[in-house]
Amino acid sequence: MTNPVNRFFQGHPAGLPTLFFTEMWERMSYYGMRALLILFMTTAIQEGGLAFSVETAAAIYGLYTGAVYFMGLPGGWLADRLIGSQRAVWYGGVIIMCGHIVLAIPNEKTFFVGLILVVLGTGLLKPNISALVGALYAPADERRDSGYTLYYMGINLGSVIGYTICGYLAENVGWHWGFGAAAVGMALGLVQYRLTLYKLEGAGAEPIKELAPQGRTLSWSLIIAFLAGLSLVTLAMLFGALQFDPRTLAEKTAIVILSVFFIYYAFIFFFGELDGPEKKRLGALFLICIASACFWSGFEQAGSSLNLFGRDYTDRMLGSFEIPASWFQSVNSIFILTLSPFFAWMWISLGKRMLDPSYSIKCGIGIVIMASGFICMYFAAHIAASGMKAAAYWLVMTYFLHTVGELCLSPVALSAVSKLAPRRFAGQLMGVFILTYSIGSVIAGLLAGNFNPEKIDELPGLFLQISLFSIAIGIVVFLLSLKTRHWEKYADADTSENT
Ligand code: GLN
Repeated sequence: MTNPVNRFFQGHPAGLPTLFFTEMWERMSYYGMRALLILFMTTAIQEGGLAFSVETAAAIYGLYTGAVYFMGLPGGWLADRLIGSQRAVWYGGVIIMCGHIVLAIPNEKTFFVGLILVVLGTGLLKPNISALVGALYAPADERRDSGYTLYYMGINLGSVIGYTICGYLAENVGWHWGFGAAAVGMALGLVQYRLTLYKLEGAGAEPIKELAPQGRTLSWSLIIAFLAGLSLVTLAMLFGALQFDPRTLAEKTAIVILSVFFIYYAFIFFFGELDGPEKKRLGALFLICIASACFWSGFEQAGSSLNLFGRDYTDRMLGSFEIPASWFQSVNSIFILTLSPFFAWMWISLGKRMLDPSYSIKCGIGIVIMASGFICMYFAAHIAASGMKAAAYWLVMTYFLHTVGELCLSPVALSAVSKLAPRRFAGQLMGVFILTYSIGSVIAGLLAGNFNPEKIDELPGLFLQISLFSIAIGIVVFLLSLKTRHWEKYADADTSENT
């Protein structure tokens, strides 16, 4: 797995480009489609949309993004115990592609079927491809963090391509062309994955701890029963036999996701037959998961409150050209692409000098930097409250700080999961970690719900509160990390199962 001959760049494993490009195309399809989703749902029927109310569409959007990341949990388990990560990524990609093909069919009935397929496929693909990256590195390889930073560039390259192509096609040719482009992107990713799979040199080819035959039969029966149940519910919905209120469902889902996170984590901790060092590593990882959930709760407002601020209170005129509000959405990805090489280099050189901060300290720093972005928004909101439009650089500066925070936390946390998780739980713990995205999105939605365009004078206070609260969380994470950073070290010492 760590054959020194088979390297591609600065000693990174040759399998990294395989995963980089697969995830790039998957994210292209995910973000490309996601950018269209709420617009498509709220557009009038005459213009080819579904004419849902904003409230319903927002609830469906929240449910969809929450579900996508929620399914990472069973997806990770399935790879660990039944099929291995390589197959999980492949089948996940195939299901995602089918989902986008279904979405490309201009029919309201099939719309939800397409969404459900993308949810199921992403649940299989996302945690397992993220765990596979880590499996390419030896436990003590200091390139792991920078490898994840490179992989993270792939994610963001994919999102820029997705926003541009799907957005252009949907606006200029038709909605379903946008969805179709997402399917083509995923197909390209699958072809690339298949052709270069050999470079993974067997990583994730088999389940790490396969179930006994009896357990396998039972699990497959349960999976089939779940899929049959899901199909029945979908059919009942399609034919109007089952009605649900998306908003109430979204609120209940938030509670379920939070509970599942705590219960699953506790279950692995207490019943996972962990030894002492593994428990310490899981303790360290818990802090990182909490930090991640808090981080995304602030960050994920990019699509909601910050987006609205961009549209309504920002001076977007560039000469005689008005910058579309949605363009601000790709500022984050563009900053990620430009700053990532610097971060990859910085982690490696700090590692070489033995100065590399612990994972949890990096996460604490990431939260504080993200929070300082909201201080920019505080000033911008003051300008807006005084009746003027805020200059665009306020928003750009906020996104810049959010991106620097993201680079300190997000790829680092992925790397931490791959290193600290006992190998037999690699996929599942990545699934649990991906749940923190889901928790963050839901909390961000609730926070953004306080954004009241009618009461602009309350806005500076809201942003300041978010900022101060996040800084406090960052400091707590930082203080706790003084303890947990020692627990992280058990990952280097205990290589028995990781090699
Ligand atoms: N942009 C990152 C990804 O797609 C993180 C997503 C998130 O919402 N946390 O993987």
